[in-house]
Amino acid sequence: MIGLIHATAAGRTGCERLAAAWPGRTVLYGDGADRPLRSVVATAFAECDQLVLFLATGAAVRLLAPLLRGKAEDPGVVTVDEAHRHAVALLGGHGGGANVLASAVSSVLGSAPVITTATDSVGTPALDALPYPTDGPLAPLTRALLDGAPVRLHTDQTWPLPAFPLTVVPAEWTPAHSGEPSPPEDPRTSAGQDQPFTLRPGPPAQRELTSAPPNTAVPRPPDAADTGEPTSPEGPRTSAGQDQPFTLRPEPPAQHELTPAPPNTAVPRPAGAGGYAVWVTDRVVGGDEGGVAVFVRPPSLVVGVGGSRGVGREEVVGLVRSTLAEAGLAQKSVSALATVDAKAGEEGIVAAAAEFGVPLLTYAAAELARTAVPNPSAAPLAAVGTPSVAEAAAILAAGTGGQLIVEKRKSAMATAAVARRRPRGRLAVVGLGPGARDLVTPRAVAELRRASVIVGLDQYVDQIRDLLLPGTRVLESGLGAEEERARTAVAEARAGHAVALIGSGDAGVYAMASPALAEAADDIDVIGVPGVTAALAAAALLGAPLGHDHVSISLSDLHTPWDVIERRVRAAAESDLVVTFYNPRSRGRAWQLPKALSVLAEHRTPLTPVGVVHAASRPDERVEVTTLADLDVGTVDMVTVVTVGNTASRIVSGRMVTPRGYRWQT
Ligand code: SAH
Repeated sequence: MIGLIHATAAGRTGCERLAAAWPGRTVLYGDGADRPLRSVVATAFAECDQLVLFLATGAAVRLLAPLLRGKAEDPGVVTVDEAHRHAVALLGGHGGGANVLASAVSSVLGSAPVITTATDSVGTPALDALPYPTDGPLAPLTRALLDGAPVRLHTDQTWPLPAFPLTVVPAEWTPAHSGEPSPPEDPRTSAGQDQPFTLRPGPPAQRELTSAPPNTAVPRPPDAADTGEPTSPEGPRTSAGQDQPFTLRPEPPAQHELTPAPPNTAVPRPAGAGGYAVWVTDRVVGGDEGGVAVFVRPPSLVVGVGGSRGVGREEVVGLVRSTLAEAGLAQKSVSALATVDAKAGEEGIVAAAAEFGVPLLTYAAAELARTAVPNPSAAPLAAVGTPSVAEAAAILAAGTGGQLIVEKRKSAMATAAVARRRPRGRLAVVGLGPGARDLVTPRAVAELRRASVIVGLDQYVDQIRDLLLPGTRVLESGLGAEEERARTAVAEARAGHAVALIGSGDAGVYAMASPALAEAADDIDVIGVPGVTAALAAAALLGAPLGHDHVSISLSDLHTPWDVIERRVRAAAESDLVVTFYNPRSRGRAWQLPKALSVLAEHRTPLTPVGVVHAASRPDERVEVTTLADLDVGTVDMVTVVTVGNTASRIVSGRMVTPRGYRWQT
């Protein structure tokens, strides 16, 4: 039974909503109006399996403390705040079911569950939420991951998967793989209660790549912290930035080096002699004897199919299945069927693709005919104009770097052949917004957790370090290593990894997206995640300065000659555009902003509104609305954008407003 207790009217509403949502499962203990709350809580604590207290956690802790007996006996307790914003799993997260209860309460009240038990909060990726299908028993393996049991990882090829926890170690590095019978002992099991931290080395593959000890940041130029300009370093480049630009930092460092022992130091159950394993493979393999294995199926296979007119769906499906089975290949790794254009409407083939849940790719006979195959034959040449359908279509569908791995097999009316694709890595170019956590988009967060490798400027990595899954590889570098960063991100993606290249604001605005994509060939997938760029973050603070046509101009002349910049400023001045200056002024670059403003002043009155926004959405944010005449350029630095209004812009109640149309002017 779930006991419900409140002390206020808002709490009573919450209790009533829960009682209505869970008929027969709750007891309303009221608000202690007729007796002390302490005694109400004590009664409920003794009578119920679970409690929901509509009380501050502090009050709840004080009331519950004298009642505690032990985690095996105590009910699970959830507290909910007055505004129903949070449901906190306070006691008995696992055993008492409070974690689950907090989520259930949240789904009724619309609150956010707050769960702090180690295994739930580390963010272990759910195996059933991986981007690829799986075979094998997910539940025990997920449990092993949550328990922190050692799990071996077997990968045939690198596919862009999210980071696995640090307890998942490439198979060749585990004692089990080198012939020892049992899985490696989990270091946490030997950590005593009085020694809450355990030194846990990272997977060897990660250390191998380390170019500096963990936590040893590459030295930055002295003014790095206040530049915020990733593509246009203002300070001198350090030799460290040139020669050794990347520091590999396993993520998060605290979990890599010092793993807190769980309070109950539970001993993960070994899965028999074979231990736990995750396989990333399109092959049907047995796993280790006596072990628990989950097989992640990358979309690596394409099946070329041919068929005589009228071939049935069952025959095509049966032939594809038996071809895969005999070759020891997993059906869930099939990502497409492929055939000749002439068969694009062949019902049996179309239906077979639908049954496998994959697209049917088709190719022109001439293109298939040009593809070298091991088993050409006369029959398809006569029927559709190419000596090979199944093999040639499989090879073409597998694309560059693909390989025919099963030659043509035949049934009465159908043919099938299988090719393996080269893995395609994934490069997400992710804008983190201007600084505030709640201006990082949910999609950006999802991409950070979708990646196993993060590449970025160290100060940006610091902004989002806590969002990364444990086990994420972090390649961070200082200012001045932009090209290196772009190259590294692309190279990691080409190697098959899921990479997130991060930048502040929008990663495509004066930032890393263009150097990275200039490097990238079409052998990787690229995903752009837009971010709130500084001009927009500043505009929102200033009022509505961008209500009409506007332009951004960077005043950094490191990459652009000044005469080009000046020409653009002049064009903006002449065409009466609102202008936002990025990179407006740094210690070594002081004259450019006054010069640009003077060009604008040739076409705008001294009373033209100017907005100066320093560190938008960050703790040291500063916003000033002034005019061209009054602007003190001394207040402008490299973490500032300067927005100059057009001839119609006004200051209204201290806010900068550019009218949507010019009618207001008259
Ligand atoms: N990609 C970034 C811009 C990089 S260029 C974006 O989309 O915002 C760096 C310049 O952006 C800085 O010199 C400054 O002019 C501006 N900038 C970046 N973040 C800022 C912030 N939080 N507040 C004000 N200006 C910022």
